[in-house]
Amino acid sequence: MTISVVRSPQTKPLPDSKDLGFGRYFADHMFLMNYDEQNGWHDPRVVPYHSFNMDPANLTLHYGQTIFEGLKAFRWQDGSVNIFRAKDHIERFRRSAERLCMPLPDADVLFEAFKLLVDVDRNSVPAQRGTALYLRPTMIATDDALGVRPSGSYLLYIIASPVGSYYTKGLAPTRILVEERFSRATIGGLGEAKTGANYAASLLAAKEAKSRGFDQVLWLDAKTHSLAEEVGTMNIFFVLNNVLVTPPLGGTILDGITRRSVIALAEEWGIPVEERPVAMSELVTAYDNGTLQEVFGSGTAAVISPVGELFYHDRALTIEEPANSLRERFYNAISAIQYGEIPDYHGWITPVPAIANGHAKELETALPDDGTAQA
Ligand SMILES: *Cc1c(COP(=O)(O)O)cnc(C)c1O
Repeated sequence: MTISVVRSPQTKPLPDSKDLGFGRYFADHMFLMNYDEQNGWHDPRVVPYHSFNMDPANLTLHYGQTIFEGLKAFRWQDGSVNIFRAKDHIERFRRSAERLCMPLPDADVLFEAFKLLVDVDRNSVPAQRGTALYLRPTMIATDDALGVRPSGSYLLYIIASPVGSYYTKGLAPTRILVEERFSRATIGGLGEAKTGANYAASLLAAKEAKSRGFDQVLWLDAKTHSLAEEVGTMNIFFVLNNVLVTPPLGGTILDGITRRSVIALAEEWGIPVEERPVAMSELVTAYDNGTLQEVFGSGTAAVISPVGELFYHDRALTIEEPANSLRERFYNAISAIQYGEIPDYHGWITPVPAIANGHAKELETALPDDGTAQA
């Protein structure tokens, strides 16, 4: 399967690093690929970024059959561009597809698509440390008919957004409300998939928490509302008596790639790690004993984000980050790998070679499509 390239006639200038924010600007190109029952996956292409025409009956708009991913490409000091843990994100995208009854895209085609898109939009990868080109693969149902059923046709696309730091406050510790009424995910539900419904389910709780002055919520298990699961859209870690503790995966928790990176580094550094249920009662006891040393969230957008307060049962558990915190060690080590400052002995880095130029020349003549068809 060859990926065709149609270059945008115009290119937008990259905004200043400090103005980037998160998900506000988009690179000049996007990747598209279509699926239908007769042809399977077909017509993979990099084309100018553009809007879609949607039929109002489009299945995604009504029943939410959609998945996404989030990963980043980084510009190194030597000018090269490198993607972090691309294969792990592809594998998770395919697992989300399976859960949402969507056809699995070929992992090798997606891997090539990431590299080609990032190469074509190489100038949109910002250079300053802390910035990145965020990649957002998405798959949507494209059948236009009402009635709940899996679609017969799909569109897979990847858009790219130059991003600064995720939080406007930078790495300021966040105030977190422990959420005891609403639930994000239930056993047997969609919690393990990166699908829109999970975020829709989370909006009201986050809105109410914000109106009360908190930054986000700590999600508890939906059944007993006693066990910590995730913080906002991040995985959660605790340092309890010098042990790194995180809730176990089990269907309701997103299997975060940053979570996996943190666990891998901790194991290499000889830090005891436990993946086990963490009850709020245990956290309160540890807080009172002085053994709740650190709380932080992990995710691609913010990497590692410190929690400064857990508000639970009308009580603010405030966490003072210790000097030489594990949180800071993880943040520094993961960032250093992402920006090529220390060797990548894990195989987490995919260099983006300059492939698009020859590629585009070769294919442009063979492709009458202006790239906007079928989307
Ligand atoms: C994406 C996501 C995470 C973090 O996953 P990463 O692979 O580390 O980016 C954690 N929790 C939820 C709910 C998520 O959507």
